[in-house]
Amino acid sequence: MSSQLTAYITLFSTSGVINLYLCMYVFLRRHQYTNISYYFMFYTAAISIYCFGSALGLTATTLEQLKFWNIILYIGMPVSAPLGLLFAMKYLGMKIKAAWALPLLSISVISFLMVATNDFHHLHYRVFEIDPVLGAPFVQQEIGSWYMIHGIFTFVSMFVAFFLMLSRWRETAKVYRAQLLFLMIGQFVPMVTAFIYLLGFTPPGIDPVPMVLWFTSLLYVWSINSTRMFTVMPIAKDSIFNSINDGVIVLDESHRMIEFNEAYKSMFPSMHKSMVGMDFKYVWLGLTGEAFPLDLDSADITSEIQLKNDDTPYIYQVRMSPLQHANNRKGLLLIFTEVTELKRLQLELENRAYYDDLTQIYNRRAFFEKSEHEFSLTKQTASPYSIILMDIDYFKKVNDTFGHDVGDQLLMHVVHVCQTDLKEDVLFARYGGEEFVIGLNNYTGAEAEIVANQLRLRLESKPLIMNDVAISITISSGLAEASEDTEETLHQLLKKADKALYVAKRQGRNQVQVYAEDAS
Ligand code: GH3
Ligand code: MG
Ligand code: MG
Repeated sequence: MSSQLTAYITLFSTSGVINLYLCMYVFLRRHQYTNISYYFMFYTAAISIYCFGSALGLTATTLEQLKFWNIILYIGMPVSAPLGLLFAMKYLGMKIKAAWALPLLSISVISFLMVATNDFHHLHYRVFEIDPVLGAPFVQQEIGSWYMIHGIFTFVSMFVAFFLMLSRWRETAKVYRAQLLFLMIGQFVPMVTAFIYLLGFTPPGIDPVPMVLWFTSLLYVWSINSTRMFTVMPIAKDSIFNSINDGVIVLDESHRMIEFNEAYKSMFPSMHKSMVGMDFKYVWLGLTGEAFPLDLDSADITSEIQLKNDDTPYIYQVRMSPLQHANNRKGLLLIFTEVTELKRLQLELENRAYYDDLTQIYNRRAFFEKSEHEFSLTKQTASPYSIILMDIDYFKKVNDTFGHDVGDQLLMHVVHVCQTDLKEDVLFARYGGEEFVIGLNNYTGAEAEIVANQLRLRLESKPLIMNDVAISITISSGLAEASEDTEETLHQLLKKADKALYVAKRQGRNQVQVYAEDAS
């Protein structure tokens, strides 16, 4: 065997061994990797079959042996290009659909079958013989029509893989560029070698591609070990970016929009790619017709904004955080979360907790929460504080005569009349069934008594009119002013007002009674 042949065999085998190593390496660690590793395993397995088949072919001494090893290498060679393409697509975070991946791979299977049965149809090789000048294992071949299809298919697969990776170059973060470059070389070098071979510029009688595969495979070894190729997939960032439910905007240091994701586009359907590069202030103005309400220079804040321009007001939570772009330039990340429904629910819950369902004024709980605070302040500042407890007279009769619904209407009527009369600074709440409480901050007992009597007279003169029937009611009130005793609690004060109310009821109703120590 000539030394040249030995060199070829060594190179072919080296390529085969490195690819086998890659395949095994990834196979043994497949559980740590993302499922891209499976594509890589099949890809490298196919290449090793190709390389070993080619190496063993060079040991052939008869045409039968040559044909046999050629069939073996065709188990791996035709399928390696489409597998390389699928691997590249997976790496770039693209979706792979069985509907077209399987037909793609089946072309490779046909090529293998064509070579295996070539003697019967000569569609792959019109001529496949031992080279008459160089002798075995060198081959003289004339290509057939299927060989053309197979060749074009292989080139196109490699070219598309290469081109797809190249098209992502700019958006790939710098740290991952070496990895991407090596993967591109992995497609480019064999593609160019095969092209030169077909043009007839390589040593005759031998397919030179397995000779270069050791080199590209070494680049893969480096990629896997040094840049964690399968555990992180930097370029799949697109799919992650677009699968976030929040709207995301990336701005550069002068607040020009660099990127936006799908979720943002769903929030603002008039968002368009052509807006990339525009100042975000104008982007926002274009999308909403309003000025962007937040200061883009005050980064790192979370705020809520409401779009007023719309019939249905949308509320967004906006998080702004600074970004460190390349070359130390600062950018800004804006994350929009739609919180309209959340806010509505929150408001509803707050309402339920603090407002009375029927009359929509504060309930007992809200009264205590709000008055407790005011009351303790007045105790500290020694300013006056009074409380009125108000109860509708003979309310049960209204329910009994007109029904519960009319009773409800009457309660709302009482609230409405009181609200129109009461100043905004007083605390008016439903205390119980048909009892109301009024907290009067900075009102002396005498001043509160005037208010209570005003309400009483107003209600007496304003019956509820329902279906042309006037339902008259009166109210009784008990009133108490906070004493100078700083130890007195709100509950004690309420008890006093309640006692006064009891007196008002006992003394004939439709009156206001002020609490007096000896009255009970
Ligand atoms: P008085 O206070 O003058 O002594 O007589 P009253 O008839 O008003 O007596 P009381 O305060 O004991 O009765 C209150 C009634 O109010 C009892 C209850 O059925 C009714 N009530 C309580 N809450 C509601 C409500 O939300 N809607 C209606 N329609 N009635 C209610
Ligand atoms: Mg009552
Ligand atoms: Mg009553």
